[in-house]
Order: sequence, then structure tokens, then C-alpha cells
Amino acid sequence: MKRIGVFVCHCGTNIAATVDVKAVAEALGHEPGVVISQDYQYMCSESGQNLVKNAIKEHNLTGVVVCSCSPRMHENTFRKAAASAGLNPYLVEIANIREQCSWIHKDIASATEKAIILGKAAVAKVHLNSPLTAGESPVVKRALVIGGGIAGIQTALDIAEAGFDVDIVEKNPTIGGKMAQIDKTFPTLDCAACILTPKMVEASQNEHITIHSFSEVADVKGFVGNFTVKIKKKARFVDETKCTGCGLCTEKCPMKKVPNEFNMGLDNRTAIYIPFAQAVPKVATIDPNHCMMLSKGKCGICSSVCSAGAIDYKQEDRFIEQKYGAIVVATGFNPINLDKYDEFAYNQCPDVVTSLELERLMNAAGPNGGTLLRPSDKTHPHKIVFVQCVGSRCDDSKGKPYCSKICCMYTAKHAMLIREKYPDTEVYVFYIDVRTPGKNFDEFYRRAVEQYNVHYIKGMVGKVTPRSDGKIDVQASDLLANEQLHIDADMVVLAAAIEPDKTARPLATMLTTQMDTNDFFTEAHPKLRPVESATAGIFLSGACQGPKDIPETVAQASAAAAKAIGLLVKNSITCNPCVAHSDELMCNGCSSCEKVCPYGAITYIDKEFKMPDRTIAVRRVASVNPAVCQGCGACTVACPSGAMDLSGFSNSQIMSEVDAICK
Ligand code: SF4
Ligand code: SF4
Repeated sequence: MKRIGVFVCHCGTNIAATVDVKAVAEALGHEPGVVISQDYQYMCSESGQNLVKNAIKEHNLTGVVVCSCSPRMHENTFRKAAASAGLNPYLVEIANIREQCSWIHKDIASATEKAIILGKAAVAKVHLNSPLTAGESPVVKRALVIGGGIAGIQTALDIAEAGFDVDIVEKNPTIGGKMAQIDKTFPTLDCAACILTPKMVEASQNEHITIHSFSEVADVKGFVGNFTVKIKKKARFVDETKCTGCGLCTEKCPMKKVPNEFNMGLDNRTAIYIPFAQAVPKVATIDPNHCMMLSKGKCGICSSVCSAGAIDYKQEDRFIEQKYGAIVVATGFNPINLDKYDEFAYNQCPDVVTSLELERLMNAAGPNGGTLLRPSDKTHPHKIVFVQCVGSRCDDSKGKPYCSKICCMYTAKHAMLIREKYPDTEVYVFYIDVRTPGKNFDEFYRRAVEQYNVHYIKGMVGKVTPRSDGKIDVQASDLLANEQLHIDADMVVLAAAIEPDKTARPLATMLTTQMDTNDFFTEAHPKLRPVESATAGIFLSGACQGPKDIPETVAQASAAAAKAIGLLVKNSITCNPCVAHSDELMCNGCSSCEKVCPYGAITYIDKEFKMPDRTIAVRRVASVNPAVCQGCGACTVACPSGAMDLSGFSNSQIMSEVDAICK
């Protein structure tokens, strides 16, 4: 005979404002097997947990139902409390009467009725719960960091500092990411390269760090503590181990008209190239789309000038496989494509540039050696208009609904640097509002306005029109003065919204992690677990999780590293015992379950069965690897013969809940 305790939480007024908590406790007290039913202000508090623990001991409970918030929040809390009172933790059930009830209803009577129904379903389920024991799985003491920007570099350095081996996989020929393209950083105006390149060098020289540049993650299998990752090392047609980075090949290569990605296409590079002077690794890469040798079989100059014998036109993509205990995603961001923004003439006028392009135009290693010149005629611009929120905070399908967070500050930086270096240049900034919530950020913005006389105008730019005399007509509204403006600018700079890197979505599928509707990775909990994904062993670093500036990115990168280290220091981890198992007598070996299992947990074995006539028959049946199974339940739904079931969420348990709800 079951002896069940029910504990109903008020959650302050979170639940109690909409649900009559005492009525719920009273109603559930009459359910079969329930020997105690109580309500309490904060069930998750120490005194609330003690209430549960004492009741387990006093009433010799065999099952516990807590009617409270989502199990994501406190299931573990109550399982631990039950275990400390001697009850198997898997004999605890949570009825979510907060997120799924009080928060979404207004009418107290109907919310109370629903809370009682949810409580009854949990009581019905706990009747069929049986004790489960978690197994152990060893942890591979090596981490993978996907993305080699400042986020990935910082995470890798911190993990390496703790003594663990860590691999960085970077899709580009060099690590460094967006920060390598930036000239100065706000609000300190220190040189980005001066603070980034020592970290890049440190990462390349650290004995615990292996950098796989020009590489991509091709496949991920496994689970927390034991991932197997296939890495595609793309052919760069140069032997990395031989190339000395002398750059002679790049000087001699005759294909000199290839748009230079590092300088945002504002100048050209050769078909064989080293992205920038401080690249890590500093080795050449041949772009097969523009190399005459690779496309037409003619040329071969780079091979003939390379004294190191590093050129290898026959090099092919190759794959390596490595095991990892933890994976950190640091795939970063990109500015959005502005093709749809005809009103800003971005595709029509070379002097309408994005902020990242302006970074390169102002950079000493950029196309003009650091002198700010218009791309069209290489003249010095005397009037520059900055347009904020291009594609950010949009309610149309062209842009993004969110604030890109960094644009207000980098525009203040650009405006200030231009006014400092070229005091004869007038700078206008059109903004919706200026957002400066970081440390020393507002002071920085005010310096731009007060000290550098940047004209900040609250208003929208309606149209940008290139004129035949080389000027650009900027038509805008000044919302405070309530007037229309026409500015004849020499350059227009668009603060393009940022979005997650395009590789993020397929990567999330491989990692079975969640993303939001904007393709940013979703954290396990926005406040309490901000650097963990909902998939165990996968951590989030930097702008892959949401727009961030450099200090925030570095802070989150170190936090993600700390979480990964917390996992790597363990020799083994406790496995979830709520895993699938097949009834071999019912299984007909049809493969339906194997096809749907996203974790590859199901294999088939030949099993001998004794037949009624005493002969032995061999049948193929499904077998679940409990260390790999994540308990998603997909196989139980796919199994046509009902042979596959899930411990802790069995078909009979779920049907008993449905029956309780429908009664
Ligand atoms: S491929 Fe050869 S020539 Fe080119 S940078 Fe490397 S070592 Fe120098
Ligand atoms: S529950 Fe089934 S489908 Fe899901 S991971 Fe386990 S074996 Fe695979």
C-alpha cells in the first residue's frame, strides 16, 4: 500500500495570488494513498524542505508529490531532500502549478481546479513510480571550444590554465574573430590588436591548447563527459607544418584582385594569402576559387618560390576524431546583410559603409594605412552621418527584433576618434535612443557630445541618396525639434544589427542544444545557469548566446570555462536513470526506434529465445546503451509493438496521469 505525501507551495504570491493553495492541499488529501497533504509559503526554502523530510520519516512515506514551480527549477532540490530522508529520489513527482497554471490564468476558481487536476495526475503517477538507481559514466578530461574569437580564446586559456587539454576549432584560417578586425575598443580606447594578439600567441604556445584553424565540426556523438567529435580540417593547400609564414608566395602570386575578407572587401588580396600580419597560425592558405593552378592547372608560382616546400596543390580535406568531456560553443556573431535596406543606398554608394567597414578604414593595417578616406574617390570626408539601429529593434521582417547592444557605444567611439583625428570633420549621429548601461559607458557617450561636439540628433533617417556631385543626401527627421533635415554628407556609416554566425544553427542541431527564434543559443536558465545550455556538457561563451561587448564576452568566456572545468575535474558523473529499455519478448527488431534516437543509443543484438516446442530461436532485438540514452522518449513513441519503454516515464505512468486528468 502506497503512503503518499502531498506538499503544495504558495511561492509567495506567485502561485497563491491565482490558486487557492489551501483548497488544493485539501482536495489532494482525499486522493487514494495520500496520507498527508500540506501547504507552505516557500516549499523550496530550508524550512519547506525540512517539512518534506520530516513528513517522509514521520509518516513513513513511499512517495512524494510537490505542487510547485517547474521541475526544471526545483525537481533536483526536492529529490535531494527526499534522498536525505531515506526515500529514493525518483519516488518524488512535481506538479507544475506555477508556470503551467498560476502564471497563465487569471480566474482563481478555474486556476485552482486546474492545479487540483495537475496534482491528481502527479499522485496517480507516483503510485506507479519505482526506485531508480543512477549509474556512473567516466569523464574524458579534454574540452572542445568551437570558435576561435576572443570568447573561444579566453575559454580555452582558462581551461588550459586549470591543467586540462583543450582544442579550439576555428572555421577561418586564423583565430582572432571579429576583435582582430576592430581598431580601438570602448570605453578605454585602447588598441584592440594590442590586447588581443598576446592572447592569440599565448593560446598558440600553450602546451595544453591545440588549434584546429580552417576547420569545422562535422559530427558530434555521445553525451556529457564522453562526446566523440569529428573535425573536418579543410584543405588549405599549404602544409601547416612546413610553412614559415614568410609571405613570399603572397607577394609573388599573380592573382591580386581577390576581395579581402579581413578588410571587408575594401581592398584586395592574392589567391594565396595570410589574413593579417598577426594571424595565428601564421601560415598561408590558397583560395581554390581564385588560384589558377587549382582551377586551370596553370601557374604554380607559389610552389616555385616557397623555399620551405610547403605548397601542396593535392592536399584534400581530412577528418580527425577526438573524444571530449565538455564542449564550449563560441561561434560569435556577424553584422546582418544590408541588401534589403535600399533606403540607405548601401549597395549603390561605396561611401555608405557599415561600422565594421569603418573600423577597417580607420585601422593602420586597413586599406588606407589608417587614414580615413572615402572608398569612392580616396578623399577625406568632411561631413559624416552615422545611422543607428539599422536592422535592430525592428518589427518588420527585414531586421531583428532585439537591440544589438554594442552599436551605441562603438558609434560614440567612432565619432570621438574621427573628431579627435580630424577636427575639421562634422559628425552627426541619428539615434532612436542612446543605450549606455555599462561601466563608464555613459560618461564615454557624454564626452562624445560635450567634449568632441558630436551632433547627436534623436530621429530617424528616412532616405540616403547618392548625388552626382559625389555628396550623399541624407534625409532625416529631428524628433525633438520636430523638423525635417537634409544633410549633404560625404560618408554615411550604418550601425548594422548583429546576428549569430550562420554556422550556429547546424551546429545546434549536431549538439542537440536549443536556440531561440533569432538563432542565439538558449541558456539552461537565463538567471541561474546563463553559461550552460540545456544539454548537459555543452556550455556557451560570448555572442553566440546574445549580443555582447568585449568585457561581457570575456567574462562569460571565463564563466563557461569555470563550468567546463567543474565537469572535467570529475572522474565520473552520475547518469540519468530515466532511460529507455526494450522488452525483448515484444521487440520485433523493426529498427523504428534506432532511426529516431538522436543520440545513437540503440543497437541490435541477436538473442536466443526458448520456443514452446523447446527449440531455440534467434531473434534480432533492440538494445539500449543506458550511458548514451538521454531519456528523450522518442523511441517509445516510435516503437509500433510497444516494446520500448522509459524508466520513470513509462507508458503506464503517463496513461495513469492522462486518466487522472480526464476523470
Ligand atoms: S607557403 Fe611557403 S612561401 Fe608561402 S608563406 Fe608559407 S613558407 Fe612562405
Ligand atoms: S529515450 Fe530512446 S530515443 Fe531517446 S535517447 Fe534514449 S534510446 Fe534514444
